[in-house]
Amino acid sequence: MRINCEISIVNRIAASHNVRNASKPARASLAIGRKDSSKLDDERGKNVFLLVCTAKERNGAKYKIKENLQQVFSKFLEKGKATIRFKEPPHDLFINKADPSSLKTFLSLLKLGDKALENVNLSCLVPAKISEIEKPKTEMVIKRRADYPLGKPFLSKLDKLTVNNCGIVRIEARILQMKSLSCLNVADNQVRAIPCRLASFSTLSELILHGNRIREFPSLLCSGSLTSSLKLLDLSQNEIKLLPVTFCNLKNLVHLKLDKNSLHMLPINTGSLSHLRFLSASHNQLKVLPYSLSKLKLDSIDVSANPFLAQDKWYNVSKLAVPSLKECAGIAVKKHKCAYFKQLIPSSLCVFLDTAKQCFCGNYCFTSCVHHIITINIHQLAHTVVSACPTQSHIPAESFICSQRCLQRLQNNKRPFWR
Ligand SMILES: [Zn+2]
Repeated sequence: MRINCEISIVNRIAASHNVRNASKPARASLAIGRKDSSKLDDERGKNVFLLVCTAKERNGAKYKIKENLQQVFSKFLEKGKATIRFKEPPHDLFINKADPSSLKTFLSLLKLGDKALENVNLSCLVPAKISEIEKPKTEMVIKRRADYPLGKPFLSKLDKLTVNNCGIVRIEARILQMKSLSCLNVADNQVRAIPCRLASFSTLSELILHGNRIREFPSLLCSGSLTSSLKLLDLSQNEIKLLPVTFCNLKNLVHLKLDKNSLHMLPINTGSLSHLRFLSASHNQLKVLPYSLSKLKLDSIDVSANPFLAQDKWYNVSKLAVPSLKECAGIAVKKHKCAYFKQLIPSSLCVFLDTAKQCFCGNYCFTSCVHHIITINIHQLAHTVVSACPTQSHIPAESFICSQRCLQRLQNNKRPFWR
């Protein structure tokens, strides 16, 4: 009988003298068996041992079981944890990360008692295989096309996968089966599209796609589990012209890199990414920034090398008509933070609600609003500002004003505060 787990061994005598003597947790293989099968029947009991094999001690340490097992602690068996206490040597074996059902069977065999254990058919103890005691591989880095695995699956339980400079044109199905990934780095390839299946990756916190040929960020990625898990998104050096209006559903983003694309504007609600700390969108085609950015407290921002509008080209487009009934209903839904999704209301209404803009007064508006250009001092947005032109600290930002009253307040006070 053999199980694989993590083990830490404590010498109780040393511990009682305040000497630290606990081994570091290590992958281990535990086996119960006979030391030598050729022994006579009356010695069968004396011959049963517990063998602990680790990477450091591959041949294993043997613990005699007969009249030597002091206690087995199995309160946390369901979590794959247990402790086996031996009399001689005075060791406590802390077992962790074992398969609970295998551990249960293993401990029940151990607890059979000396008499019963004599009559159980046990095999001879042999050292564990290397694969049983090595830490499972959780990271894979492929930096050359020649190393890219063809025709065989990737390791299924990878945590991090890096595939750089391999010339791949798509993120293929074998990669999309690894749903426990926390970091996927496919930078510097020829990838043309981001697969929508990534939306269901509930543990993916880092998605690095720089240096590819991506033209759009699918809006479907802004509606799945990824919206809660994703913290770092690197889309720099691609061919993206526009991000979807739902982009800001990726509400846990901390680090967003959009440099060297063809973006004409950032999503109008970028300011609702309340966890965002690092934003870079240099070398794009940005003419204005969204005024909602002024809601954020960033650590660093880089919007250098963008053709921002010169002041003489600033505009005001007034459309303060009486809002439609649909618009009034939409304002109420957004104001009261009512949940909406495609299973609840028609998808066209979801798209409409996603286009809501927020006025600095806190109210929402749709088409009946004043599209207004205002300046923001970029040094007030972040502690660190990267700028190709240090003198250009005031950058045009577009805001949407919900009412005549707000427009007047803005004209009286050029730097309104967000509510
Ligand atoms: Zn307003």
